[in-house]
Amino acid sequence: MNKKDIKSMTLQEIEKDFADMSERKFRAKQVYQWLVKSVNNFDDMKNIPQIFRDTLKEKYFIPHLKIKEKRISSDGTIKYLFELFDGELIESVLMKYKHGYSICISTQAGCKMGCVFCATGRNGFKRNLFASEILNQIEIAQKDANIKISNIVLMGMGEPLDNYDNVIKFLKLVSSKDNLNIGMRHISLSTCGLVDKIYKLSQERFQLTLSVSLHAPNDEIRNKIMKINNKWNVSDLITACKKYIAKTGRRISFEYTMIKNLNDTPKCAMELSKILKGMLCHVNLIPLNDCSFNEQFGKSSANRMYKFKDILEKEGINVTIRRTLGKDIEAACGQLKGRYVKKEDGLRNGMRK
Ligand code: SAH
Ligand code: SF4
Repeated sequence: MNKKDIKSMTLQEIEKDFADMSERKFRAKQVYQWLVKSVNNFDDMKNIPQIFRDTLKEKYFIPHLKIKEKRISSDGTIKYLFELFDGELIESVLMKYKHGYSICISTQAGCKMGCVFCATGRNGFKRNLFASEILNQIEIAQKDANIKISNIVLMGMGEPLDNYDNVIKFLKLVSSKDNLNIGMRHISLSTCGLVDKIYKLSQERFQLTLSVSLHAPNDEIRNKIMKINNKWNVSDLITACKKYIAKTGRRISFEYTMIKNLNDTPKCAMELSKILKGMLCHVNLIPLNDCSFNEQFGKSSANRMYKFKDILEKEGINVTIRRTLGKDIEAACGQLKGRYVKKEDGLRNGMRK
């Protein structure tokens, strides 16, 4: 397809294109405003003359997303299954919490990284999402649920740093005043640890929160569950994180999914404390989500999780146990979950007895 995805372009890029076509500057703003309103058909852009709409149709396209399925959980979480223009499927999860709405969005259809506990990884890689397709998940969910989203988590399907350029473009678009205007401080990006891209991201000096899926305190365990550890090991990753913090001044969140008898022992907690000691960071302990496709992995008991947490705390590490939202609608889909919602109590009261 030679047509350009106009929805992935910034206002300034559209202005430049239009200037090259000798079209007046204000047209760019008009078109951009339609795009921000999630209009995905040039003929619906009513204030654009027909002749110019025809030119737009020849040069550009607007990739659209369709809601293929929607499930609503008893806790209010909504999971959307979106169909992309070429038939690929992705998921997003909309969550309500005390301070507003958060959405967990996808950055790729599938994933190449092959983490053994992850449903997305298991199903392989289809393609990168365009910046516009990442953005559109937010717009459609807002429209559909008739709400305003205040926080974004790039923690859905795919590895955001493996789709680096489009994700950066998305971040610039979504935080721009002419667009959804959601500030970087309200955005989290989760990575399995693409070290070269962590260095690259630190150069952007974004104020977003970087989440790093660590899941193990040493190479022996991490090699068993995350293929990426063969390329960049725990020490490479921690060094990159330290440099990221030094460069951006931002705290890193380490995600640590607790897997029974694999990474949940007191010895692992001590090892983890040692490697994170003195870092500006926070650890999120997450119960393993249903992993029925991989029977060798089970969930850690709540008791184990609290013991683990206590050890980290004693060693001076900030730590929270996260709960999974939307369980009854499989909102997790291997990974889509509200781990950033602080809800220890459900776990403490419900499971720890
Ligand atoms: N690719 C990125 C972001 C998407 S995955 C990353 O790996 O960070 C989002 C999070 O879900 C990651 O922390 C991932 O390790 C976690 N995850 C995947 N499958 C899971 C499962 N079965 N149980 C708990 N967490 C899981
Ligand atoms: Fe990909 Fe993240 Fe799943 Fe690993 S956990 S396979 S990086 S989506």
